[in-house]
Amino acid sequence: MLLTSENYYSQEANRDYLSVSQYKDFMGTYGKPGCEEYALAKLNGTWAENMEDSDALMVGSYVDAHFEGTLDVFKAQHPCMFKKDGTLMAKYLRANEMIQRCERDELFSQFMSGQKQVIMTADLFGAKWKIKIDSYHPDKCIVDLKTCQSVSKVFYHPDTGHLNFLDEWGYYIQGAVYQKVVEINTGKKLPFFIAAVSKEKEPEIQLIAVEQSKLDEALVNVERNTPKIVALKAGRYTPMRCEQCDYCKHTRVLKSPIWSSALIGEV
Ligand SMILES: [Zn+2]
Repeated sequence: MLLTSENYYSQEANRDYLSVSQYKDFMGTYGKPGCEEYALAKLNGTWAENMEDSDALMVGSYVDAHFEGTLDVFKAQHPCMFKKDGTLMAKYLRANEMIQRCERDELFSQFMSGQKQVIMTADLFGAKWKIKIDSYHPDKCIVDLKTCQSVSKVFYHPDTGHLNFLDEWGYYIQGAVYQKVVEINTGKKLPFFIAAVSKEKEPEIQLIAVEQSKLDEALVNVERNTPKIVALKAGRYTPMRCEQCDYCKHTRVLKSPIWSSALIGEV
């Protein structure tokens, strides 16, 4: 199957290729546990993500669409965000402030001025992968745009301690896969950057250089986990349920009562 911007997110493409977001559905990140059965249900089309169109989420999507150059399509798909005159409703105006903040910074704009939405594929660790790069500077670097709550927000987990938003949401994994797929296609190992903008009242921007050691570490995990995902997608394993996600809540069938001590698990 030849990937295009039209079929990139199609079910057929998702079944044929592994993507970073699929990988994260299966394996999870610190911020969102993985769930094999949920990931497969999404791929099979038996579970549609309940896109709670929270205002913050919509703001992020609008900013993404702007930098992708797909704002026209986005407007057609989300008419409820706009007033009759075609301008953004008041509660979404933050999106414009974020975009303006990004574009009045010369370096940020330079990083975002590469080739937009570049699709590449590669065989890696026994899977066919697909990636889509926000801003690709051939021979120079790979840049991904991220909207976030706060650039310097700290996430705490008892087993790992304090994490930044890249670790929390699996962006090291994304950087590792993107860098490797580009390297397989071009022979060049390029640095990976995150161009971040926060959704705060005063949007904060930052260009984040991702340490190679972090990418190497993430790629080792991708290598370890990919064969299991390939086997799951091929139906050679019975998927595990996380019993925490919306899919698991929706599909749970009670068999017998549980002890109260099992309610919060091991803390
Ligand atoms: Zn689940």
